[in-house]
Amino acid sequence: MSGPSWRAGQRELDLVLGDITRFAAEAIGNAANARLAGGGGVDGAIHRVGGPAIMEECRRIRGGCPTGQAVVTTAGNLPARYVIHAVGPVWRGGEAGEAGLLASAYENTLGLAAARGVRTLALPSISTGVYGYPLELAAPIALGTVADFLRQDSSLERVTFVLFNAETMAVYAKALEALT
Ligand code: ADP
Repeated sequence: MSGPSWRAGQRELDLVLGDITRFAAEAIGNAANARLAGGGGVDGAIHRVGGPAIMEECRRIRGGCPTGQAVVTTAGNLPARYVIHAVGPVWRGGEAGEAGLLASAYENTLGLAAARGVRTLALPSISTGVYGYPLELAAPIALGTVADFLRQDSSLERVTFVLFNAETMAVYAKALEALT
């Protein structure tokens, strides 16, 4: 189900309710952990649907991926060319640099997508599941960071947040309204 959208010239940021593993985009983002070890939530779903090729590549990335950074793998059986694994911060109350790390996880994801000439990118709501980042605080950072990136010139034409439940959609929709 598609929701509201925002535009900057020909570039578009939109919100969709659904499962990111079923979404057709050239690249999809993953909310990974620093060990790139797979897990529950969206990470588990991406590895389950994408198949073992993604984990094989993750294992070859020495040292995993620090919080706030991102790495790229192929997408296995997913309808995408790349998975961009970003590691968001665990919520520790807000005084541990969480906001900067969350913005940086998105920025690095967008940068890696643009470096590969990706035009369409789907993103999950990083850190707002098991990592406990409050949705109302995470949504403006997620959307603001993507909107800032789309205002610049890059290969990206459309970025879609694929949100898994109605509550997340409602909070993101409100934050998107505040952006426009
Ligand atoms: P984190 O550990 O970064 O919090 P989670 O995977 O626990 O990551 O949650 C991040 C967000 O991803 C949550 O909003 C959760 O509802 C959502 N999510 C879980 N499965 C999927 C999926 N298949 N597609 C899109 N979003 C998903």
